[in-house]
Amino acid sequence: MTSPERSRAELPDDAGGDPACWMHRVCAECGRLADEDPPTRCPACGAALEV
Ligand SMILES: [Zn+2]
Repeated sequence: MTSPERSRAELPDDAGGDPACWMHRVCAECGRLADEDPPTRCPACGAALEV
């Protein structure tokens, strides 16, 4: 079963796996997907992403 994509252009090129594997990268403030695994900062708004 295919689930609908919620993000617009935020998905990485290789997002072929389980969506849960990158959910922890989604910024709680603006919804952007970070470029790397937390702990890091959102590249869009600078909010801290925690593990
Ligand atoms: Zn953000």
